[in-house]
Amino acid sequence: MYTLKKAYLEITNICNLSCSFCPGTKRPTGSLSPDGFSTLAQRIRPHTQYLYLHLMGEPLLHPQLEQILQIAHDLDFRVILTTNGTLLPKRSALLCQSPAVWKVSISLHSFEGNSFSPDSSCYFDHCLAFAQQLSQCGKRCVLRLWNLDGPDSPGSNTQNKAIVDRIAQSFPPPWKTDWQGTTIAPQVYLEWGERFQWPDLSLSQQEEQGFCRGLRDQVGILWDGTVVPCCLDHEGDIPLGNLYHQSLEEILESPRAKALYDGFSQRRAVEPLCRRCGYRQRFSR
Ligand code: SF4
Repeated sequence: MYTLKKAYLEITNICNLSCSFCPGTKRPTGSLSPDGFSTLAQRIRPHTQYLYLHLMGEPLLHPQLEQILQIAHDLDFRVILTTNGTLLPKRSALLCQSPAVWKVSISLHSFEGNSFSPDSSCYFDHCLAFAQQLSQCGKRCVLRLWNLDGPDSPGSNTQNKAIVDRIAQSFPPPWKTDWQGTTIAPQVYLEWGERFQWPDLSLSQQEEQGFCRGLRDQVGILWDGTVVPCCLDHEGDIPLGNLYHQSLEEILESPRAKALYDGFSQRRAVEPLCRRCGYRQRFSR
């Protein structure tokens, strides 16, 4: 039996934003029905308790999110949602009340990744009020700023200082920072990350040497049931099987999945997509 730390199940690949850092997808748009979610989630559950409701797409857009969270609760999943934050005013009560929801990550870097100009103070007001509300319900909330410029540049982008100042108004310091990140209040975290190059077959090939935790810690399932090795295979370029027609065990035992896994065991990226993935640089440092 394969045990994974987490699985990414794409409940919709539709998004209400078009962020500059996100490659989007050319796959047909679609969403999982509650029945489809139930079928796929039951096949995932023996392998992990931690279920992310995205690969691409904005999960809070799903019209039957409440039913999906109920099914996840019935299966005893710990659900993690990653959202751009724009729909939190409509969804906060559901997220706070659902026993399945374990953590919500808000991609605050969506703000600088868009040309839209929502009233910035409203956007942050809603996100930060939600973080307070969620933590009061005993659930975790992560405020993400995954927009740092990398080790060779001066650091964060130009808006981050103002954003962090705004966060400090809602969550007054002192904050506690350790190797895992910054805790700004009980159950509320501020998470920094560098921008990275999403894998894409149109990019030029990088070196073959390298490591990644795809299929080792995680697996992704697209809304049509296609299983991929990670949450970054946004086009389904490494289709390993289909969870509607095969068990996850069978898919992970397939020659293509085993070759990817064994390749990384030998510090080699076997798949062309993996040779064009900036994310795996994180495992090289
Ligand atoms: S190297 Fe990139 S594309 Fe390949 S499995 Fe890892 S995260 Fe996914």
